[in-house]
Formats: sequence, C-alpha cells, structure tokens
Amino acid sequence: MKTGSQKFPTDPHGWAELLPAREAAPSLHGRHGAAWAVVGGGMTGLACARRLAALHPDQDILLLEARLVGQGASGRNSGFAVAVSHFNGGFAAGQMPEYRRVNRINRAGLDLLRAQVAEFAISCQWHEGGFHHTAADKMAIRELTHFRQYLEAMEIAHTPLDRTALQGRLGTAYYQHGVHVHQGALLQPAALVRGLADTLPANVKLYEQSPVLGMEGGNRLILRLAKGTVECDKVILATNYEAGKLGLLRRRLTASTLSGSFTRVLTEEELAGLGEQRQWGVLSLHGGGATVRLAADGRLCLRNMAEYHGGELLSQGKLLQRQTVHRAAFEARFPDLKDVPFEYAWSGVEGISRNGTNFFGPLGNNIYFAGGYNGSGVSRGTAFGTALAEYASGGHTALIDDCLASAPAAWIPPRPFLDLAAAFSVRSRFKGVGRDQ
Ligand SMILES: Cc1cc2nc3c(=O)[nH]c(=O)nc-3n(C[C@H](O)[C@H](O)[C@H](O)COP(=O)(O)OP(=O)(O)OC[C@H]3O[C@@H](n4cnc5c(N)ncnc54)[C@H](O)[C@@H]3O)c2cc1C
Repeated sequence: MKTGSQKFPTDPHGWAELLPAREAAPSLHGRHGAAWAVVGGGMTGLACARRLAALHPDQDILLLEARLVGQGASGRNSGFAVAVSHFNGGFAAGQMPEYRRVNRINRAGLDLLRAQVAEFAISCQWHEGGFHHTAADKMAIRELTHFRQYLEAMEIAHTPLDRTALQGRLGTAYYQHGVHVHQGALLQPAALVRGLADTLPANVKLYEQSPVLGMEGGNRLILRLAKGTVECDKVILATNYEAGKLGLLRRRLTASTLSGSFTRVLTEEELAGLGEQRQWGVLSLHGGGATVRLAADGRLCLRNMAEYHGGELLSQGKLLQRQTVHRAAFEARFPDLKDVPFEYAWSGVEGISRNGTNFFGPLGNNIYFAGGYNGSGVSRGTAFGTALAEYASGGHTALIDDCLASAPAAWIPPRPFLDLAAAFSVRSRFKGVGRDQ
C-alpha cells in the first residue's frame, strides 16, 4: 500500500513503524517569507538547515519536507554511517588523493553526526564498532585483495578475518574471507532523522508534508506549494534524486530502488548462535552483494536487491516477490534460523549518477544543490549539507574544497534509452555476484 501524494508516495517501511509515535510538524499554508529555504528534510537538508541556523542566528530558515521526516531515503537506509569508502574495481595508487578526499568528507560527516547524537541525546541505536567487509564467492574474494591493498596503503585501521574468525563474530560460516574496518557507525535510520529534525535550532521552522511543486526566479525566489508560497533570498535543494520533479538535473541524476527485509526480534537462544557481538554490520565486497546487520533490537536485517524502477518505491506485491530473494540469501547465511519469519520488507530509492560522483554547488542564481550519494549518503550527506550551508553563505573551508572537487556528473540519456542503459548497469552491478547476493 502506498500512501501520500501521487508525486511523493510513502509506505510503511518498518524502520519508522518500530519507533514510538511522533507528532509531525505542520504543513505549510499561506504566504511566507524567509532569508533561506531548504527543500528536503533528509540527511543533507537537516545538516544544511542546522548549519545555516548557526551561521545566521538572526535569520529565519524554512525547511520544507514533502513527506513525513523519515519517509525519504535517509529514514529507510541500512543504517551504515561510513568513515571509509570502498572503491570497487581495484586499487590504483594514483587514485590515493581521491580516496583521501572522499574519506575526509565521510569522516567529517561521521564526526558531525556523532557530536549531534551526543549533544541532543538522540536515541538511534548509535553503535560505533566499524564494519565487516566480506566475501563468499570468487569475485568478492578477488576484490578483497584490492581492498586490503587500499587499506594498507592508506594506513586505515583494520583486522583481516578468516572464515573461522568471521564465524566467531557473526555466527555464520558463509563468508570465506573478510576484513573488519575499525571505523564506522551503525544506527537506526528513521530514529536518527527524526531525532535530528526534532532538535533543530529555534530559527529553523520545519514544515512536513509540504512538497515544493514549482520554483520561480526574480529579485527573490518564489517557491510554490499546494497551499502556500515561500518568498526567499536563497534556496538549498536537498531533494536527492527527486530534483527532476522540479525540472532540474534530469540528465545527470537518476535513481535505483533497493529492497530488503528484517526479521522479528530474535530470542536469546537464537541470538546466542549469532557470534560474540550483540550488534554488527556486514558490507559485501561485491557491489551487488548483500548488506546484512544484526541490529541493536535483536533483528537481523538483509538488503540484497537493486533495480531500476523509475525512481519509485516497490508496491507491496512487488516487495513480496523480492522477499523470496531476500529469504534465500538469509537462509543460506543462517540455516539455523530458517524458521524465523521476516516481519518487514522495505524498499527505498537511492540517488545515483552514471559515473558515481556526488553533486555539490550552485544550480542557478541563489539556488544550491547537494545530493546523489550513490548509496552512501548518511555520513556524506551530513558533510555535504553542512558544507553547502557554509558555501552558500560565502564561506571557504577545506571541507567545501573537498566537496567542490567532486567530478562533474556524466550525461544520462532520456527514455527509452535510459531504461536500456539502466537495465544494463543493474545487470553489470550483479555480474559475478554469485553467493555474495
Ligand atoms: C535501501 C537503502 C539503503 C541505503 N543504505 C545506506 C547505508 O547503509 N549507508 C549510507 O551511507 N547510505 C545508504 N543509503 C543511501 C542514503 O540513504 C542516501 O544517500 C541519503 O539518505 C541521502 O540523503 P539526502 O538527504 O540527500 O536525500 P533523502 O534522504 O532522499 O532526502 C531528500 C528529501 O527531500 C524530499 N523532497 C524531494 N523533493 C521535494 C520537494 N519538491 N519538496 C519538498 N521536499 C522534497 C524527500 O521527501 C526526501 O525526504 C541507502 C539508500 C537506500 C535507499
């Protein structure tokens, strides 16, 4: 069942349903004026609004979110806030400055999030224990060699793990090899974004279920909503892959729909068979491989599908079909838990560029955009959003320079060529995935 406006659908994705009820901010009615409008209340928009508020304590910042906070990708991801990116496809010593740039951005975002979670006591299962990068089949095993070369050359703290060590930690003998990267945080995504939204500074006014439907330029910018307008000096678009709905970046930014499932809460006996740690996260060394985590509340969560679906969530019917793929991967990894049912299946849409770059900077007169993090936007979105607030305020920081150095996005063809290209790139993503899916 999809609900919400036709253009901005929502659904019960589980991550939010597991949280206590929350009172939403009002939707926008009537004519409003402000110095700043931030469109989109995910990681990017929330970070941007918070930073703008600190930089301009005497100005009003309106934050306009089309859905309820937590319904976008930021509230329905797998909850890995990475410090260290995995650059698929081989280690290249000549790329080390680029690897360092991206990891500086990741770490800046992770540091900001850690500080905000602590300062505002956001209850989001924050757990900073790093991640396991694993390989079960040939291609991922080959990639592990590259990944270790990269970790060693970059002097990134890690621990190589063989099958027995992985089994001791994760309670599954499925993975042949792996490595534990010490940095990185696991979190409950919907709890994090709700917590961030509910602790915004007083000069940020959040409106939920308030999609911006159009934008006009002039002396001041005018945003048109269903039941009101906003006149402002500067607009920050933090709309991720939905920038196209405002007629922007259509040929640069597209989307991929991911899906996964999570189990009911496991019993103490079931948890006892799942290794030494009560929380862990697994990222596959194959780009099409499964992301698996044991969450703080004792649920196992597995995501292993990615498809081009026109930037849409999957219907409940399609989700049920995909769940057979989630299920097969789950039972292969955890045969002793084959009788444990899934309680939720969920899908979410990630913003992607053809060449894997991110977007940061001006998009027109007094209009700025950051987004499109290709499935890795929790810490990065926080850093980009913060840096964009500073950049749009005329600031100059090392983080801004790092964000501005993102490569330009490659051109994306229109439909029907897009459908063919997308189908091809999804097929390529899963090529050789084998047992890692
Ligand atoms: C299933 C899944 C798993 C993922 N797992 C991870 C992970 O483990 N780690 C990680 O780092 N990343 C992960 N990602 C990616 C990550 O979730 C995103 O990169 C990140 O959340 C993007 O943040 P954002 O704020 O830029 O965009 P979003 O979270 O998409 O927020 C954009 C917001 O803008 C709103 N909006 C759009 N248009 C309008 C408009 N016209 N008017 C008003 N509001 C508008 C939307 O409703 C939305 O809430 C995953 C993504 C998915 C889908």
